Amino acid sequence: ASDAITTDVLVIGAGPVGIFAVFELGLLDMRCHLVDILDRPGGQCAELYPEKPIYDIPGYPVVGAQELVEKLMEQARPFSPVFHYSQMVETVARLPEGGFAVTTDLGTRFHAKVVVIAAGGGSFQPKRPPVPGIEAYEGTSVFYAVRRMEAFRDQDVLIVGGGDSALDWTLNLQPIARRVTLMHRRDEFRAAPHSVERMRSLVAEGKLDLVLGQVTGLAGADGHLSGVQVKLNDGTAREIAATRMLPFFGLTMKLGPIADWGLNLHENLIPVDTEKFETSEPGIFAVGDINTYPGKLKLILSGFHEVALMAQAAKRIVAPGQRIVFQYTTSSTSLQKKLGVS
Ligand code: FAD
Repeated sequence: ASDAITTDVLVIGAGPVGIFAVFELGLLDMRCHLVDILDRPGGQCAELYPEKPIYDIPGYPVVGAQELVEKLMEQARPFSPVFHYSQMVETVARLPEGGFAVTTDLGTRFHAKVVVIAAGGGSFQPKRPPVPGIEAYEGTSVFYAVRRMEAFRDQDVLIVGGGDSALDWTLNLQPIARRVTLMHRRDEFRAAPHSVERMRSLVAEGKLDLVLGQVTGLAGADGHLSGVQVKLNDGTAREIAATRMLPFFGLTMKLGPIADWGLNLHENLIPVDTEKFETSEPGIFAVGDINTYPGKLKLILSGFHEVALMAQAAKRIVAPGQRIVFQYTTSSTSLQKKLGVS
């Protein structure tokens, strides 16, 4: 339809491999849109180990995972990639006129000549806390991410967790909610020290409640929460008034909707050839941790190699019949122009 975003390439996943795909595709004049469930780029590097040093990126004896992501973003910038965060690609379907229609759970629609799946270990999905009956409240009163802050205005909000997401949203929602209560298992937080300090001073000023304990049950009807039963660390039980609950219990990786796209799968990975890294569906490529082939290593450097070869094959689909000239970035003035360095 007319309101779909058209692009040469739609990249599913903005992990290190998806970002570097933008660069390799860009050198061959293909433009990319990228979709990621996370609210920022970097995939596992940003979500699972941002502060850890990596020692096996060629040319960097040591580089922080978050730092690598920032460098990759800088390298991709000349090709003006468009990122669509906080949404999950749900469907990929072939268009009768050629190319693919891709949709996300937020309703964003794309028409792309080529689809590149760089989905890593699959989609990051929030861990559901072990509270009986919680499913009935999900999407109406219980949320695992904040997509619209307005949904929390004038509400009694209970935020559960002790990491950065829990602390960030406690501080962001405190000014607009009727009341925010932060609950954690113990009086220690794995969040940025300045957020923890700010939280503690709001508690001291009486503008925020901090409760140490665990959720045991939910009260409400028809998906509308009214209160949360908790067991406090001193052994007592009580109910906290809450119309919204935000549990931040971390993320797990699941294959997610990729299983439904009609691709051949092998143990939740996508088999590809090692010439083009194409899947069983012509025009759909798979690169990085999500793919499998004889000898595959789940390393960032393997993904970098894969996208370089994938881009050559993608070009033949995006611009059929156009001759591809092999060039070095060192010596090609045409590549340097694209990069904005000459
Ligand atoms: P990912 O980084 O997993 O990114 C995939 C992205 O796709 C995710 O952001 C996900 O949200 C998104 N996604 C998935 N499905 C969808 C969907 N349907 N819609 C929208 N978005 C979707 N590798 C090394 O080379 N060296 C190391 O030293 C090293 N150390 C590591 C240490 C740890 C603790 C871990 C966990 C991994 C380490 N790795 C290391 C592995 C490395 O992180 C992975 O190989 C790399 O992240 C793979 O990149 P990727 O882009 O393929 O996938």
